[in-house]
Amino acid sequence: MKKSFAVIGLGRFGSSIVTTLAETGHEVLAIDSNEDRVNEYMNIATHAVVANAQDESVLKSLGIRNFDTVVVAIGENLQASILVTLMVKEMKVKSVWAKALDSYHARVLEKIGADRVIHPERDMGVRIAHSLIANNFVDYFEISPDFSMAEIKVFNPKFINHTLQDLSFPKRFNVQISAIKSATGDVTIATADTIIHERDSILVVGKTQDVEYLDEILYRV
Ligand code: ATP
Repeated sequence: MKKSFAVIGLGRFGSSIVTTLAETGHEVLAIDSNEDRVNEYMNIATHAVVANAQDESVLKSLGIRNFDTVVVAIGENLQASILVTLMVKEMKVKSVWAKALDSYHARVLEKIGADRVIHPERDMGVRIAHSLIANNFVDYFEISPDFSMAEIKVFNPKFINHTLQDLSFPKRFNVQISAIKSATGDVTIATADTIIHERDSILVVGKTQDVEYLDEILYRV
């Protein structure tokens, strides 16, 4: 079932969320107090409105409480970010995601009930740093401070043209392989019979230290 979203604040962060949600066929209401920004998203979002989200009656008239998820993507204006998050939560929206500028801002957003607090700059920095450290991470996601998921390119010939069953990743490396991506971008869910071909990359989940160790092994030629 398609979910409905409202995104408040069309800076770089909010606008890329709106664009991606719209591109993936989701209903998205885009709200910003800046008319020029709203005009840019008129033809992208399902609806785009110029409104001051700090005005509770405006939020009510937009039917904010009927959306499955509301993203508060206001950054610089702390007062607006906090007040809007609080009001949307009071309207009993089930899932409210809010952008934080720093850890103090994040603590306040958590305290007033934001269901998910996002730190885009910090999270992207962590992700990029792991890609820099690793040999051949194509992409990297931190699941928790100790666990991660990485897309790793396979160069080591010992792993090419073998099934996942033969390679026994869980036993040898303490990680799970969830999918394989070919050089052309086709993704296959991993099963015991899946074969790793030349130039494939694998989607690996495990403890960060195990994922990083596997990265080293897969890089060897
Ligand atoms: P980014 O880093 O994503 O570009 P930012 O952290 O610089 O964003 P801001 O520019 O502060 O964030 O805010 C993002 C958007 O939120 C702006 O387009 C701004 O007009 C909008 N905004 C700020 N306050 C309100 C408000 N009260 N109601 C609606 N929109 C608002």
